[in-house]
Amino acid sequence: MESLPQDELEPIKKQLLERRSALLNEIRDELKRSDEQRYIDLAGRVHDSGDEAVADLLVDLDIAIVGQHIQETRDIEEALRRMKEGGYGFCETCGEKIVLARLQTQPTALRCLACQDRYERSYAQQGRPKL
Ligand SMILES: [Zn+2]
Repeated sequence: MESLPQDELEPIKKQLLERRSALLNEIRDELKRSDEQRYIDLAGRVHDSGDEAVADLLVDLDIAIVGQHIQETRDIEEALRRMKEGGYGFCETCGEKIVLARLQTQPTALRCLACQDRYERSYAQQGRPKL
């Protein structure tokens, strides 16, 4: 599978890792602020784990207050996976290289602009699935 050149990939990867750390901190805080015991238990586990483990832990969770942050974390995990396994930076739909400027502003983008546009239009018609 194709990959982006390392000098294009590295800064984006750094950006993703920083965003992931920030997100995980926010999720930790959100869990801490919640007074339900299961969130507190979870926050304890989250607190003791490294970022990698936290991301795994959060993948199957569906907690409303952190739902969006968890979704974003998943998107980042997916982008990082594709960086490692290949395919990152190429449109999932048409296979073309996604323009660098798009990846820089939206590093988790899966599609080129044209395909994303089409995807969102058909997606919007089906209605948004619940997180
Ligand atoms: Zn495309």
